[in-house]
Order: sequence, then C-alpha cells, then structure tokens
Amino acid sequence: MQNRKLIAALAAALVTAGAGIPGSPAEAGAGEPSQLSPLATWYGRQALPAGDGWGSAGAGTTGGAAASPDQVYVVTSRAELTDALRGDAPKIVFVQGTIDGFEGPAGALLGCDDLADPAYDFDDYLATFDPEVWGRETEPAGPLEDARVRSMRNQEAQTVLKPGSNTTLIGLRGATLLHTTLLFNEADNVIIRNLTIRDAFDCFPQWDPTDGDLGNWNSNWDYVSVRRGTNFWIDHNTFVTPNVEPPSFFGRKFETYDGLLDITHTADLVTISHNVFRDHDKAVLIGSTDNPGGGDPGRLNVTLRHNLFDGLGQRAPRVRFGQVDVYNNYYRIPVAAPFEYGYSWGVGVESAIYAENNYFSLSADDDPATVIADWGGTAITERGTWARTGGSGFGRPVSLLDAYNAVSDPALGDDAGWTPQLRRGPVLPAPGVPVLVGLFAGADRLPI
Ligand code: CA
Ligand code: CA
Repeated sequence: MQNRKLIAALAAALVTAGAGIPGSPAEAGAGEPSQLSPLATWYGRQALPAGDGWGSAGAGTTGGAAASPDQVYVVTSRAELTDALRGDAPKIVFVQGTIDGFEGPAGALLGCDDLADPAYDFDDYLATFDPEVWGRETEPAGPLEDARVRSMRNQEAQTVLKPGSNTTLIGLRGATLLHTTLLFNEADNVIIRNLTIRDAFDCFPQWDPTDGDLGNWNSNWDYVSVRRGTNFWIDHNTFVTPNVEPPSFFGRKFETYDGLLDITHTADLVTISHNVFRDHDKAVLIGSTDNPGGGDPGRLNVTLRHNLFDGLGQRAPRVRFGQVDVYNNYYRIPVAAPFEYGYSWGVGVESAIYAENNYFSLSADDDPATVIADWGGTAITERGTWARTGGSGFGRPVSLLDAYNAVSDPALGDDAGWTPQLRRGPVLPAPGVPVLVGLFAGADRLPI
C-alpha cells in the first residue's frame, strides 16, 4: 500500500518535473537562430507555470518569453554574452559551450595578475596587514587596501555580468559559465535554466581582522546574486566549486568564494527548482542583514523544491525575514574536503521556513541535531522529513527539529506561522525524493 501510493505520487511528480514533452514544439522557432532545435526554442520561451512557488506570485515570471526574433541569441563568448544580456527588452540568451569570465577582449584568457592594479602586491598586503603588525582592532586601510579595492573593481568589470530585466538565460547541452558572477541588481522577471555555473573565483579577497574572534578572509563574488528584484525562476542548473584545498594566511582559510545563490537586499518572489548545489561552503543565503531598516520584512519570499544539496558546508538555505517553502529537496550531507559540514537550515531573524518532505542522507559522523542552526529565529515548521543515518539503509521518518531542541536552549517553536499555497503538483512523500531529484536535478536534464 505504502509502495503503491509512493509510485503513484512519483509518477505524478514526474509530470511536473519540467522534463515533460511540450505540446507542439514544431510551431516554435520561426525566425530564430537556425541552429536551435524546436525543443530548445520551446524551453527557451517557457514561462514559470502558474502556482509554481513564490516566483509565480505577483506579475509572475516569464523571463524573455515575449522576445522578438531579433532578441533571441546564441552566444559562445564572454563578449557576446555580455552584449546579449544588456538592457530590459525581453530576450532569450542561449549559451553554447563554455564561456570563461576571464576571456579578454581579444579572446585570450586573462589571469588574476592581469586584473591586479599596478600598486597591488599580495606579499606586501600580507606583510602590512599581518595581525602582529597591523593589530586586530581596525579593518585594513591605506594605499595597499586602496590598490586591492581597485583590483577588485577591475575583476568586477571583467567577470561580473549584470543582466537586465525580462531575461531568459538558458544553456544548450553542456553549456558552462566559468569564472563568472551573475549579479542581478534592480532587475525583474528573470529565468536561468540548464547551465553549469562553476568556480566564481575571487582574485582579491579582503582580510577583515574584526570579523569574528580570529578575523576572516572575505570574498566578494557569488555565483548568482539577486538583489532588489522580483520574479526569478532558477531551474535545472548545476552550481559547483572545485575541491581544492585553499591556503591559509594569518591562520585563517583564504576564502575565494562567497555564495552559490544569494537573494538579498529586498529581493522577492523566487522559485528555485531542480538545481544541483555541490561542493561549496556557503550555498544559499536569503537575506544578508538582521537590520529591518533595509526593507527586507515582508519580502525575501522564496520556494526551493526538488533540488539536490550535495556536500555543502552551510546555508541550504539560511533565511532572514522571508516565508521560505523548502519541500522535496534531497540533502547529501557528507562533505568532501576542503569543505566542512556546519548546518543546512539556518533559522534567522524573523524567518519563516516551512520544510516539508525533505530527505537527508547523513553519515555516522553527522548528528541530526546539527541540521538546524538558530541564527536569531523563533520557529520552523517541519513535516515529513526522512533521514538515512550512518550512510546506508532506506531511511526512516525523523524530526530534525526535535533533535535540535533536545540539545538546544532556547528551543525553536514548531510553527513558522504560514502554510504554503503556491505549489505545482503533489508534494512527494520523502522516501521518493532521492529517486526523483536524482533523475531530474541539475543541468543537462532538459532535452535540449
Ligand atoms: Ca567559448
Ligand atoms: Ca553574497
């Protein structure tokens, strides 16, 4: 009985997995770049369906669905990509092959040295701001720090892409954005699909001796950053970071990455579906400040469904202020070096996470009590979680909140104060989640 119900729910969920065959693809594509298949054209023009998470609220998310034929692009270089993404006219930008953010004007690859300001020298920076010399009371300042900031701005001009509104950015098979940051600031109505997004490397991290007790190296660039915009659909992408052990300076890890997908600064109405988030420390940050004065209260509403969170350190997601629906996601917790597991669900200030039917795979070393972290919140709603512990077996129902509360003071409440209404299709029982997410999450799962 249990199995039959599970199979029926799986079958229903497959239909909504975004891999369904569209109605009449042959009609699409007239007047668009001739190398696009009818299916690619169909997926490029697809809007987020009604009722599919927070991204479907308000004006809905159509991306570039209304693009005229001359606003449909197939790009293969950084320069073509940057040009195509400019402006707010509806546009569909297909990425073909690997585009490297370090591609210089003539196509040759630049390195960090090429972006460094002439007055910047990393060895001098280390010598100057060594805590034994500079102390730990104030942040770096002076000519070397100014040169680092200029270097950072050089990198921004090179690797940080700033697309406009009404954009669909979609990968053709194998498409990869390497060494880029997609920074959406005051852009609305955006769809990002079927892309592998790798290694948004920061050449010029900043030392901050006042961050924590021991200081920290902080990196500036996320893989995707959504700020001050509404209506985003992030679907079927793979976010991944190389497993490379970073060096340490001043006894602290030299942090060359920030978030995989950060939604901050009053951004709102985002649906995140069928993505793979893999091998990284800080995954998904929703809200970057506890201060309500920036306008975040009432915003930062996000749905995360059918994603794979694989080998991440923290923030899957970490939430402030928003009503965040987290359902049918698959968490593979064991983390490969150099990453270390901290927690998955960050319950921040005035956050309202509603977590339903998620599945966790934990190793014998992972304590279920550590999955939730309290960053100043008061409650989280949790329903139907299953977990496999010790790295084997089929799993069983668990309450991660009970596990957390058993060892925590103060305890978190069990009612985040809202019930999600915007869901497309059935919520799958947690035991089916690894199969469904394994089949459909990530780039190159759409038939284009
Ligand atoms: Ca290329
Ligand atoms: Ca960030």
